[in-house]
Amino acid sequence: MKTVVIGAGIAGLVTAIRLRDAGQDVTLVTKGIGGLQLGQGTVDVFGYSPDRVDNPIAEVEKVSSSDPAHPYAPIGADAVRAGVDYLASLLGGLLEGSVEKNYLLPTAVGALRPTSYIQPSMTNGVCEAGKKLLIAGPRQLKDFYPQLIAGNLARTDLPDGGRVEARPGSFSIPARGTEADSSALRYAQALDQPEYRRQFAAQIKPLVKEGETVGLPAMLGLNNHDAWRDLQDLIGAPIFEIPLPPPGIPGMRINQVLVDMAKEKRVKVILGSPVTAGTVENGRIVSVTAASAGHDMVIPADHVVLATGGFESGALELDSYGLMSETIFNLPLVGTDIPEPTHGDYWGDPQPMFRVGVKVDSDMRVLDASGDPVYANLHATGGILAGAIRWTEKNGEGIALGSAMAAADAILGGSK
Ligand SMILES: Cc1cc2nc3c(=O)[nH]c(=O)nc-3n(C[C@H](O)[C@H](O)[C@H](O)COP(=O)(O)OP(=O)(O)OC[C@H]3O[C@@H](n4cnc5c(N)ncnc54)[C@H](O)[C@@H]3O)c2cc1C
Repeated sequence: MKTVVIGAGIAGLVTAIRLRDAGQDVTLVTKGIGGLQLGQGTVDVFGYSPDRVDNPIAEVEKVSSSDPAHPYAPIGADAVRAGVDYLASLLGGLLEGSVEKNYLLPTAVGALRPTSYIQPSMTNGVCEAGKKLLIAGPRQLKDFYPQLIAGNLARTDLPDGGRVEARPGSFSIPARGTEADSSALRYAQALDQPEYRRQFAAQIKPLVKEGETVGLPAMLGLNNHDAWRDLQDLIGAPIFEIPLPPPGIPGMRINQVLVDMAKEKRVKVILGSPVTAGTVENGRIVSVTAASAGHDMVIPADHVVLATGGFESGALELDSYGLMSETIFNLPLVGTDIPEPTHGDYWGDPQPMFRVGVKVDSDMRVLDASGDPVYANLHATGGILAGAIRWTEKNGEGIALGSAMAAADAILGGSK
C-alpha cells in the first residue's frame, strides 16, 4: 500500500515513520520544515483548560467525553498515550516524562510553563520551593536575559507554596572567534565539541555558589545529546536548559532525529515541494500533485494523510473578504461561523479563527457537513484539526501525536 503524507511537522513525521515501520510504502512530501523547531523541544499534552492542568491525560479523557468539538474527542486518550510513547521510543533517551503529570519549567521570561515530556537537559529546572538557582548566559548571546528570568522566577509563588531563590549571572565567551553577537545555533554547534565545552565551563564554574543549580540558555549541544552532561560534570553543579525565543535548539534536536530516521527507514522524503491538488476517482484520492523545480510531480496514493498544520503553516488561509479555506483540497471547514475571525486585542482572548479546521472521525478521516467522509482515503492529523487553540491550551504535540497514531492505525487496519 502506498501512503502519501503531506507535511513534515511532528504530525507528518511521526505518521510517516509509524506507517513505514509497519511495512508501508510511504512518501512524505512537504513544502518546508514544520513547527518542531519553533517549539520548546518538549511534548505538551494539556497545559491549560482553562486553568493550569496537573494531570494532562485525565484532562484529555475529560475533554474527549465532554466536548465533541475538541480534537481530543475523536482522537481519544488511548491514542494520545500510544502516540507519546511511540515518539519517546523513537527518540531514545531524548525525552522523558509522563502523560499523568505536568512539569513546571521556567520559560525565556522566567514564567512557569506546564509540559509533560521534557529533555533530560531540562529536568534540573523543575522548580521546587527553596531551590537555589543561578541563571547565567554569555554576554554575546542577545536573546537571553538572566536578570529578567531570575527576577520573575524569584517572585513567583509555586503551586505547592513557597518560592525558588534565583539570581542572575553573566560571563563572556563568543561562540567563535571574536564574534560580538553570537547565535544560539553557533553556540550549540560549538558546544558539541569537547574543547569548547571545557572553555565554556571554565567561565561558569567560578560564578556558582554552594548548593546552586545553574540555568543556562537552551543551546547545550545540537547533535551531541550528551554535551550537557559533560558540561555539568565540568562545572561540578547541576545544570539545566531554559528555552530561548524560536527557533529553538531542543526542537531542532527532535526534528533532526525524526527527519534522519525517516530517511534511514526509507520513507521517500520530498522537500521543498508544495502539494497543490489531488486527483479524485470514485470518491478516493488516487494521486496528489506537488510543485517542484520546473514541473509538477504526480504522486500516486492508496491513502493520503494531510499533516499540513494550520494558518501558521499556510494549510489554512484567510482572505481579505474574511473567507477561510483549506489550501490543497478545498476541504469543508468547521468553526467558521464566528462574527469576526480576528480581534484587535492581541494580548487578550485567543483569536477565534485559530479554532477553525477540519472535522474528523475516529479514523481521522475528514468529514463533510453531514458527517460523512469527504474522501474515503483522506486522513488528517495535527494542527489542521478544528476545535483547539493549541498554543493557549498547550496541547499541540498531544493532538499531533494522538491523531498520527489514530490515522496510522486506521490505514494499517485497512480503513475502508
Ligand atoms: C510560534 C508557535 C508557538 C507554539 N507554541 C506551542 C506551545 O507552546 N504548545 C503547544 O502545544 N503548541 C504550540 N504551538 C503549536 C504546535 O507547534 C503545533 O500544534 C504543532 O507543531 C503542529 O504540528 P503539525 O505537524 O500539525 O504542523 P506543522 O508543524 O505546522 O507542520 C506543517 C507542515 O506542513 C507543511 N505544509 C503546509 N502546507 C503544505 C503544502 N501545501 N504542501 C506540502 N507541505 C505543506 C509545512 O511546510 C510543514 O512541514 C505553537 C505554534 C507556533 C507557530
